[in-house]
Amino acid sequence: MISVKGLEKRYTIGDTAFTILNKIDMQADKGEFIAVMGPSGSGKSTFLNLLGGLDTPEAGEITVNGKNIHSLNETQRTLFRREHVGFIFQNYQLLPNLTVEENVSFPMYSGKKDKQEIKKQVSDLLRSVSLEGKEKNYPSQLSGGQQQRVAIARALSMNPNLILADEPTGNLDRRTGTEVLRLLSSLHQKNQLTIIMVTHDVYAASYADRIILLKDGVIESDIRQTEGANQD
Ligand code: ADP
Ligand code: ADP
Repeated sequence: MISVKGLEKRYTIGDTAFTILNKIDMQADKGEFIAVMGPSGSGKSTFLNLLGGLDTPEAGEITVNGKNIHSLNETQRTLFRREHVGFIFQNYQLLPNLTVEENVSFPMYSGKKDKQEIKKQVSDLLRSVSLEGKEKNYPSQLSGGQQQRVAIARALSMNPNLILADEPTGNLDRRTGTEVLRLLSSLHQKNQLTIIMVTHDVYAASYADRIILLKDGVIESDIRQTEGANQD
């Protein structure tokens, strides 16, 4: 599903080049739930952005669903993102002037679906994240956990096979964070969804079935957790 080969990312500040990712190799199968951990500044977000085609590497290859994403031009890459990837961010990134329903549905309008079909899908999506009845609310009228569940529904709206989540529980307390983690975990199990989640939180990572530790530009460890480490 995902194959990463010799991935390199550098930033140049003044005359100095900093190697953030140094020849990373990684494979992920369809349906894996992977946590990417590592110290602050170790390149976790950079790695995720590269996987989602939001950033370009200096060298290396990333193949998602058989597509080498960096051989695509800008337009093709935007299309690729829309069709294959759902993003979830620490700060939810909902549009404040749109209702819950509108936030979830607007990625769909770039497709060819008709209004009635979209309405039905939004309602199904909101049910799947336990937010039925909140259709007309604005993000500011929701708790952080609820906002993140709206963001998850939006991420799922284009029926992606890959979810990239950057510190999805970073702004949430343990209780609401747990709700979000359980939701991700159940979506992953039910729909065979591949999830790659950046987190610095060991508790959040315990929901994944594999933990990749990034350090000093390389993968320091890549460990599969025993089934059910956190299936509460
Ligand atoms: P993490 O998510 O692990 O905290 P990041 O991927 O955000 O790490 O950043 C990795 C390193 O790359 C950091 O040292 C950061 O300062 C640097 N970095 C990230 N983006 C840029 C950029 N656009 N320009 C220069 N340096 C950057
Ligand atoms: P852009 O012109 O920035 O590509 P889009 O219309 O594609 O704008 O998306 C605008 C915003 O909608 C994004 O910044 C993002 O927050 C959200 N969004 C769009 N598609 C997705 C998706 N597949 N997963 C999560 N959020 C999305």
